[in-house]
Amino acid sequence: MNERALVPQPESLIVAVGGASDVGGRPTNQDAVVVAELPPAPMVPVAPSFLLAVADGMGGHAGGDVAANLAVETLRDTVIGSGEADAALLLKQAFRKANEAIYGRSEAVGGEPMGTTLTAAILRGKYATIASVGDSRAYLLRARGMTQITKDHSLVAEQVANGTLKPEAARSSPQRNILTQALGMKAKLDTRLPGIFELTLLPGDRLLLCTDGFYDVLQDRDFADVMLANPPASAAARLVDIARERGTTDNVSAVVAEATPTRVTTPRVAPPTRQGLPMVAIAVIVLVVLIVLVAIAFFALNS
Ligand code: CA
Repeated sequence: MNERALVPQPESLIVAVGGASDVGGRPTNQDAVVVAELPPAPMVPVAPSFLLAVADGMGGHAGGDVAANLAVETLRDTVIGSGEADAALLLKQAFRKANEAIYGRSEAVGGEPMGTTLTAAILRGKYATIASVGDSRAYLLRARGMTQITKDHSLVAEQVANGTLKPEAARSSPQRNILTQALGMKAKLDTRLPGIFELTLLPGDRLLLCTDGFYDVLQDRDFADVMLANPPASAAARLVDIARERGTTDNVSAVVAEATPTRVTTPRVAPPTRQGLPMVAIAVIVLVVLIVLVAIAFFALNS
């Protein structure tokens, strides 16, 4: 008889993802987002894998929109088309290509400056690799605590770092929108860029990528409450709604990933063994022979 039992496997993570982007308080949306499941790669045994990103474009006319979309398209094409196993290296390559694509487009339209932030994450199972240029952020929500993973490339972040501005004053500084780095502003991206951050997700962790349209109207506590109460796609949409309700004057984009624990249980069915079936057959034959012998003996004794 086949044995059927639930065999506990080592604990693993299921990652769910979702994103939302909205014009918020502006006439056009110059943000762009990516939420994509990556196809299995031969060098990457962990599946499923995801590419997540937010970009916040800037420039005259449609420049910001063009820059943000060029960034996410170049990122997506580079990452999906690559067999590179090193996620950090892959993101560095993608950011360089995105910078060149935007700078090239700017040159092609007469040198009108255009640029964008880009914050991107590759998730492979529980391993997250994050890259960032500009002031769009990645946050980790772990055990109700929000931690900013990325470092802003902004004037106020530099002022806070060198002690000339208090951290609590950065949020209200009139200079808070001034970036020190962005994609597409120079022919070559600074060799120290993008900033790379690596972390291992634990069960229950949430990862948030977001643009700066949230910073004036949402606090860390708001982000945490929404992500803890909703699955990723709903959480991203809810964050965008709240930013609108609170009167953000900017575009707003959020991408959320949630790592949920799963103790995978697979039915174990004992396979038929090579000798298993002949043993059954032999037993049946022996039984039949015994019955026949008993029958013969019975009839012989009674005849
Ligand atoms: Ca913005």
